[in-house]
Amino acid sequence: MDRVHYRIELSDISAHQLSIQLTFMPSSTSHELSLPAWIPGSYMIRNFARHIMQISARDADGALDLTQLDKQRWQLSCRNQTVTVSYLIYANDMSVRAAYLDDEVAILNPACLCLAVSDQTSLPQQLELTRPGFRVTENWRVATALPRCSGTAMLDFGLYQAANYCQLIDSPLLLGHFTLQQFAVDGVPHYLVVSGQNHYDSARLLADTEQLCLAQRAVFGGLPDDLSHYWFLLWITENGYGGLEHQDSTLLLCSRHDLPAPQLKAPDEAYQTLLGLISHEYFHTWWVKRLKPAPFHAYQLAQEQYTPQLWLYEGFTSYFDDLALVKSGRISQSAYLTALEQLVTRVTRNPSDSRQSLADSSFNAWTKYYLQDENAPNSIVSYYAKGALVALAVEAELQAAGTNLSAFCRDFYQQYLATGTADQSFCQALAAQGFTALANQVTDWVNRAQPLPLAESFAKLGLTLSWRSPQHFDDTHGNNEQAAPASLGCSLKPQNGGLTVQQLYLDSAAHQAGLMAGDQLLALAGYKVTEKSLPQLLKRLPYGSVQPLTIFRKDRLLTLSLTLQAAKAQVAMLSVADQNKVTSWLTSALSS
Ligand code: ZN
Repeated sequence: MDRVHYRIELSDISAHQLSIQLTFMPSSTSHELSLPAWIPGSYMIRNFARHIMQISARDADGALDLTQLDKQRWQLSCRNQTVTVSYLIYANDMSVRAAYLDDEVAILNPACLCLAVSDQTSLPQQLELTRPGFRVTENWRVATALPRCSGTAMLDFGLYQAANYCQLIDSPLLLGHFTLQQFAVDGVPHYLVVSGQNHYDSARLLADTEQLCLAQRAVFGGLPDDLSHYWFLLWITENGYGGLEHQDSTLLLCSRHDLPAPQLKAPDEAYQTLLGLISHEYFHTWWVKRLKPAPFHAYQLAQEQYTPQLWLYEGFTSYFDDLALVKSGRISQSAYLTALEQLVTRVTRNPSDSRQSLADSSFNAWTKYYLQDENAPNSIVSYYAKGALVALAVEAELQAAGTNLSAFCRDFYQQYLATGTADQSFCQALAAQGFTALANQVTDWVNRAQPLPLAESFAKLGLTLSWRSPQHFDDTHGNNEQAAPASLGCSLKPQNGGLTVQQLYLDSAAHQAGLMAGDQLLALAGYKVTEKSLPQLLKRLPYGSVQPLTIFRKDRLLTLSLTLQAAKAQVAMLSVADQNKVTSWLTSALSS
């Protein structure tokens, strides 16, 4: 047998259980079996093997010794005949990175299902999907970019085969009832799969997705040479959100309310977010799935694999995702500028903007960005959001020099596709094209914890950046011109009829008063505090006055002294100073 075979059965839906049989011909007297600790694209240790139950091994002569070595590895003793390893997987992870099974859908990421066999990961890996016999799974179909074996019809249960283990774990599967639509880009079929039965404008979703693909394709001047098909797998739930990029597909999780309603005119916020997600994951087809940090050419899946380059891969993808929405005419210039205002506000109002560098945030994604706690606004800068602003700042300089970021990225892609990028590659490439000063600036922006010179960048793109005070707790945009309320400098969450401090911003009024995350606000200046009353109180109490703030800290009743401070002007506003420059940017940026 010159391949590794996995038979996957949806054995118990209500127990979320999959039954797996791994069969292979040993090439020595002992093999190691292991599951990855993480899945590429999502930089967090997930320890997939914790969901394995009841593992055992045998061959035709009986049971085989299987000794567990650590949390995810087993040593298997073999004889010179075919081995079968049987185990159960608990599949109840409502995310795009693992496995999930219920009576509506099965989401299978082979990274958390298929034990790798040492010395055999470069062999073909065959997946046999057996059709379940349950009434609810009648008429279920299979959507995946994994190649089918001859004899298995498209969308059917049966045999699928990856060229190697690496391709296997890069090919998620969606099983269930779904709608399937398709379009072609340069003759390459693109499939759009939407799980479940939903009421939405499917023609619009298809047309919008196609236009986004065309816009992203224009950045690179063509599809990747090895792309022969592409699958958008949309898993629709009540209120999930997320996406993960793969070589020939993406698995997306969204709410059914994100799908476009019939008769929707301009995209509402939910649908715009979904289009942004689709655009983001598709851009990754070039940018991190093919061009990638050099060390990712050999993934180390047993433990963390560090890189300081995520600002380049996730940040630039985040810049190009929304840009494709406006370039392709899916959203208006004004809607795009609103999205940029929110982005700038999110990055710059957090104390972390001048406390953590982008390289540091990238490197420590495993234990910081992916494991955020209440201190995150003070300590963690987003390599997505701030990385997108670095892309915008580079764009501004290149536009001013008569070229654009798309043209640069296209050359950069070609230059580093085969080798992958080293930590300094992007800045070296800038310098090599004569942008030495910009290369030095980018090095500085990425490696030092400091705010970016955004006003200058926007000016070069024809926009004026100004700031106003927030109008309510979560205000990141809007045009309310009322007097600014005083600000506490913390984020609050309604809880048990009151307000609880979620995150405390360092050096704020709340910090100076001695508030802590977790405190429950009861009264300010002798009046009950509610979600409704607090903004009114903050509007009426004089700035500079010291007011008693009564709180519960766990079960203790305390009164703190709060000095009221005017809210800082931290909400970004963009206005057009030179429409010609803006037009030139938004029409050139995606065509190089
Ligand atoms: Zn991404």
